[in-house]
Amino acid sequence: MLIVMESQTSQEKIQKVIEFIKLKGFDAHVSNGENHTLIGCVGRKVIDKRDIELLSGVKEVIRISSPYKLVSRVFQPDDTVIEVNGVKFGGEHVGMIAGPCSVETLEQVDETAKQLSEAGVKILRGGAFKPRTSPYAFQGLGEEGLKILRQVADKYNMAVTSEIMEVGHIPMFLKYVDILQVGARNMQNFNLLKKLGEINKPVLLKRGLSATIEEWLMSAEYIMAGGNREVILCERGIRTFEHITRNTLDISAIPVVQKMSHLPVIVDPSHATGLRDKVAPMSKAALAAGANGLIIEVHNNPDCALCDGAQSLNPEEFSYLYKDLQALVGVLKKQF
Ligand code: PEP
Ligand code: MN
Repeated sequence: MLIVMESQTSQEKIQKVIEFIKLKGFDAHVSNGENHTLIGCVGRKVIDKRDIELLSGVKEVIRISSPYKLVSRVFQPDDTVIEVNGVKFGGEHVGMIAGPCSVETLEQVDETAKQLSEAGVKILRGGAFKPRTSPYAFQGLGEEGLKILRQVADKYNMAVTSEIMEVGHIPMFLKYVDILQVGARNMQNFNLLKKLGEINKPVLLKRGLSATIEEWLMSAEYIMAGGNREVILCERGIRTFEHITRNTLDISAIPVVQKMSHLPVIVDPSHATGLRDKVAPMSKAALAAGANGLIIEVHNNPDCALCDGAQSLNPEEFSYLYKDLQALVGVLKKQF
């Protein structure tokens, strides 16, 4: 349920409404719009909406029919803009994240990050805990990998994102990482999502391998319901009957989600296609379709990468692409 307060309602009246709905067993999530304060009233209890309509300062009470509430554009009409290290995702802002699939060595991350930072990238990616299909494949360096990522990022004034797979690792990640990435395979790890709702760092939530848009938004709702408003959605391709590309990039998901939700949507063209030569065209397509950012795999020596070399660009290829994308973003009247 969404409570729309009258314009210029006093803080005191807003507080009274919040207290009332809390007393009835609901959580209150406040959104301060340009004209009205909105209060999202979320919970499993039943309430007569007329009881709220009668409270002073309340303009109207709207039942939100979708299963996701806080994530919905109805709850927050304005775009959420998330800023990390001066990079903004959302609204007219397009953010770039780049780096290797996995942290392998200090030299590998340093060499890659140096060139990315020279190209203008301010957020570095790199997996330290890798969710691999085969138990015999490289599983990542664990905490040592996070340390390398942090050390290198600090050297080049970059922020970092890395994938978290376990609730128990949250305190460790908070020490090293600026954006906590939830991978496709953990999109419905609900315990993890709930706990990430309690932290105050942004979460990059990738779409599950076979997840519908509604399931994806429900996962974002889990995080937001815990109080964390900073969720960046990431379309990374879905499983279809087509096997020439690793996954099928669902370009239409970008405008579809942007209509349903105020959260920023970025695209991962690397995992979506699995093929290096498809990364540039899909990056351009994603931005043209309105994506709020990109996350691209870049490795200093893709042929020797321990993971996902075939879909990784080398830093030089990346820097050409980034220049093209900057020009495109200008045409789209947006900014990197
Ligand atoms: C990744 O970004 O490292 C990754 C494993 O991607 P996904 O979860 O989208 O497969
Ligand atoms: Mn990868």
